[in-house]
Amino acid sequence: MVTALYMERENRDTISDAYDTALVQYDRAVSHLDIAADVVEYMRYPRRELTVNFPVRRDTGELEMFTGYRVHHSTVLGPSKGGLRYSLHVDINEVRALAMWMTWKCALMSLPYGGAKGGVVVDPRSLSQGEAERLTRRYASELIPIISPQGDIPAPDMGTNAQTMSWIMDTYSMTVGYSVPAIVTGKPIGIGGSEGRTVATGRGVIIVMMEALKRHGWSDTANTRLVIQGFGNVGSNAANYAYEQGYKVIAVSDVNGGIYNADGLDIPDVIRYSQEHGTILEYPHAEPVTNDELLVLPCDVLIPAAMEGQITRHNAADVQAAFVIEGANGPTTPEADDILDDRGVIVVPDVLANAGGVVVSYFEWVQDLQSFFWDVDEVFRQLERIMVRGYDITVRSAEEHNVNLRTAAQLAAIKKVAKAIETRGIYP
Ligand code: NAD
Repeated sequence: MVTALYMERENRDTISDAYDTALVQYDRAVSHLDIAADVVEYMRYPRRELTVNFPVRRDTGELEMFTGYRVHHSTVLGPSKGGLRYSLHVDINEVRALAMWMTWKCALMSLPYGGAKGGVVVDPRSLSQGEAERLTRRYASELIPIISPQGDIPAPDMGTNAQTMSWIMDTYSMTVGYSVPAIVTGKPIGIGGSEGRTVATGRGVIIVMMEALKRHGWSDTANTRLVIQGFGNVGSNAANYAYEQGYKVIAVSDVNGGIYNADGLDIPDVIRYSQEHGTILEYPHAEPVTNDELLVLPCDVLIPAAMEGQITRHNAADVQAAFVIEGANGPTTPEADDILDDRGVIVVPDVLANAGGVVVSYFEWVQDLQSFFWDVDEVFRQLERIMVRGYDITVRSAEEHNVNLRTAAQLAAIKKVAKAIETRGIYP
């Protein structure tokens, strides 16, 4: 069946954005499944999409208009869940792709959620603290018709953080008249956040990396070289946990560029430097590298943890890592996947590798709803259990269908959502 949404994308001759990537990945995965064609078509579509245009007063007194989005891809398995991104790259197709990936991620990890994503077209570095607060509160109030603890629960993503979540929680709570901690996850612990949430995505990335290395007989921790693109929440926490576990992190980067030291970087020191200077650039005990150079450095594990579309048909043949562990969402295009596959590079896909964030977000939501809070050991124990279970499900699916880990992970997730659609039936 060829639909308007599909035709619109089909006429393109290259995979040009995240939504193309998400749809191509979806087509690849469903081609291995025996699912009714109409259910395949149903899951291709986002359930609902909201675009909001809203004013924010700058510190100068001028009003500026901003555009934001929230897309619910699926609510079949439960309330939709997904982050909010502040970036100049945000557009409706990026948000659609990220929402679809959230559906597969939550289903793969057996969380009772559907997938959503949101974002505002803004460079977060261009906002003062006051401007960031006014923008966030106005955007949150625009989202109120479609977010709730039972319906759709936002979380942090690129360019947003625990402070952003606090303003959203407060705006929602002031509107309904009582405190609603479960409206967002990724909050500070003092207002209902979970122990371990800040580090969860990066820690989860390293848990699955260790699982992948172990299962491929790779045991020389101290000589395993890691390269990490992106030094924000995901990249810096992945680097730190890897460093604590004894791995050698030889290069990291942020939007301004990267740093490289073949003997390994002192990651706690790089984190201190980055916090002090707002960038890792010019860190003294390393050589500078560009983001393009960083992706093709000699190493054993490459962790893209910045944004989508970083490993493409232009650089995939030059990637020297034996393992790519996707901290970011959608960092590898389908064309690059094919090249890496042919070269025998193991790619642990985003929906598995970076799921630690939504797993601990789920713990946070459960704790908020029960008003009963866990200690950090319990959070990390449950995180590890669920990440390893997700890895097991993916490997079993890969063996069953004779496909790579990306298609295997998406297959396993899509099967669950399709089954739920069939079980619930079609309304009315
Ligand atoms: P962040 O804003 O905390 O950090 C992003 C980092 O990437 C920064 O260091 C920034 O300087 C760098 N960066 C931005 N553009 C870049 C570019 N063009 N080249 C190189 N570096 C660049 O964001 P984050 O929360 O760490 O998210 C990073 C990725 O991980 C995104 O794809 C996000 O969707 C994904 N992710 C985040 C979470 C989470 O819990 N925060 C969970 C799952 C997935």
